[in-house]
Amino acid sequence: MDDKKTGMNQPAPSLWESNLVHAMRTAFRLSSHPDSRKILGAIMRNQAATAALRHRLQKEGVTVPAILIISATTACNLRCSGCYAGVCSSGIRKEMPLESLDRIIGEARELGVSLIMIAGGEPFLRPGLLETAARHRALPVVVFTNGTMVSERMELLSAHRNLLPVVSLEGSAEETDRRRGAGVYRQVTETMQSMRESDLLFGVSLTATAGNIDSVTDPGYAVKLRELGARMVFYVEYVPADPDAPQEPLSAEQKATLSRRFLKLSRQTGMLCVAFPGDETPYGGCLASGRGFVHINAAGGLEPCPFAPFSDRNAVTDGLLEALRSPLLAEVRKNHHMLEEGKGGCALWSNREWLAALAGNTGCCGKSGD
Ligand code: SF4
Repeated sequence: MDDKKTGMNQPAPSLWESNLVHAMRTAFRLSSHPDSRKILGAIMRNQAATAALRHRLQKEGVTVPAILIISATTACNLRCSGCYAGVCSSGIRKEMPLESLDRIIGEARELGVSLIMIAGGEPFLRPGLLETAARHRALPVVVFTNGTMVSERMELLSAHRNLLPVVSLEGSAEETDRRRGAGVYRQVTETMQSMRESDLLFGVSLTATAGNIDSVTDPGYAVKLRELGARMVFYVEYVPADPDAPQEPLSAEQKATLSRRFLKLSRQTGMLCVAFPGDETPYGGCLASGRGFVHINAAGGLEPCPFAPFSDRNAVTDGLLEALRSPLLAEVRKNHHMLEEGKGGCALWSNREWLAALAGNTGCCGKSGD
């Protein structure tokens, strides 16, 4: 096995894998509906075999991540200030067909991926997307949504409890509407009440900025989210991807505050609270490029991370297994020591000039596009 510095075939840190399984087990224990417990329990019982698959492929030189993030559409009904997706997916002209998405999720399961995260754009906006993901009942599918189009899909979510919606808020009604648009806070909290009434297991995603770090990590606010029915909270560090938006990345001190507070909030509220990317130091640094997760853009391009729109393989044309043999991602892992986190919650975004040069060196098409 290569030493730490080269990292080429470094397996995922075992601490990361055990923490992931612990997080999944915690979330599933918080589900109360019998159908949720049945389907999520079966998924949990399969985690050891799933991890063994990854480890076997690692020995064969293929780094299979535990989490696969798929931004399956670029379309969105909102125009949030500072939206990274709008910037990072700007080169995409044509979205992958749903049949390809279906095949990629199936391949992910066969290769040992433990968790699918569907992002966008707005996933509830693309017809057939959720039905396609829901078919894969052996995989938990976290669906990041702006929460304004969920109410009319309660039946689907109740019937397919491997789908785990995570709605977005920015803190108070005023903070949320300022960034996401007038009335969005009311729509999202009404959606949360509907999901609570349907006894769905769901969560909330909070983008932590220099301006709202205190309100989104306020214990009273966390209790309110729990009373609205949430059982998981994702604290996502703001990445200043949109140069035209207010640049509000967390300072180093605020990052440390977030790392302390989300663990405390988890204990205080009993909800599963995670920070993304959070403090990756215990894992030897950035978990992108397959060490913990990879990203597939709406055209199928395989990228190190949602905030790093560079790819040299496409899971639609190459298949997922071949795409995971990406020279670009291997090069990023090999130069892992380069990924010092700077201003803004993503080491790859902070080092995008280096990544662009790397992408150039590996002959990739550079900025991801169709
Ligand atoms: S809902 Fe998400 S994808 Fe849509 S504009 Fe807002 S941040 Fe961007």
